[in-house]
Amino acid sequence: MDTQQLSLIDSHCHLDFSVFDHDRSAIIQACREADIQTIIVPGVCRKDWQKILSLCHQDNMLYPALGLHPCFINEHHVSDLDELTQYCASMSAVHSETPALAAIGEIGLDFFIKETDRKIQGYYFSEQLNIASQYQLPVLIHARKSHDEVIKHLKQNTSLRGIIHAYSGSYEQAKEYLKRGFKLGFGGAFTYPKATKLRALVSRLPIDAWVLETDAPDMSPLTHHGEKNSPQYLLEIAREFVVLYDSKLDFDFIVKQLQQNTQDILPSLKNTLK
Ligand SMILES: [Zn+2]
Repeated sequence: MDTQQLSLIDSHCHLDFSVFDHDRSAIIQACREADIQTIIVPGVCRKDWQKILSLCHQDNMLYPALGLHPCFINEHHVSDLDELTQYCASMSAVHSETPALAAIGEIGLDFFIKETDRKIQGYYFSEQLNIASQYQLPVLIHARKSHDEVIKHLKQNTSLRGIIHAYSGSYEQAKEYLKRGFKLGFGGAFTYPKATKLRALVSRLPIDAWVLETDAPDMSPLTHHGEKNSPQYLLEIAREFVVLYDSKLDFDFIVKQLQQNTQDILPSLKNTLK
């Protein structure tokens, strides 16, 4: 299989997490050699944003997203939202010293975790959607057991676009997202045979619904079950996508389409991909 011409994009990878501190450079190098040329690094808490920005500044294959994740709600402060606005204002200005902000994320609603207040989650989510809308930035959304609620938020702001990362909803909910111009993240969860509903969804939706992601260090694919996940496994995830979508189709053709989908939804990547 010739993948020389491919340039894969990992649309969601927490490469800033300290679990990568000892092997981050080696992983980035291995990704380059495996034709994984672009990695989006989303933020989960304000304290991580500066690290993400400096990593992205050091390496032009990394693109930053900044956001306040619903699973870390107890670490967020209302003042973090002002800081996010300031980053958006300064990073939307054309300035070669600053990496362009690819998106606002990772933001969303997680109703699987019981211990956090849904109202507070909703507050941070809708405030960050407003910031994204104000600066015309795409959003990277984390939605677990909350798709109907997320869709309600999106209906209130029809100019928003983005990715529903690690998609786990139904066919009907997927159609709602697609109607609003969103893409769905395909990653490790789809590689497990027991995920029958999710796997069946892949070929029921059009190819332009999907983008590839690893969500490393979490959500390892079946072939690396129990290990730390890595963006290096993106090619394996791509292969699984083709198997589920239509294994008779040309691998390179499918992967190029998925790459195009990611560029379409994250326009800051557009001018920079080789
Ligand atoms: Zn994530």
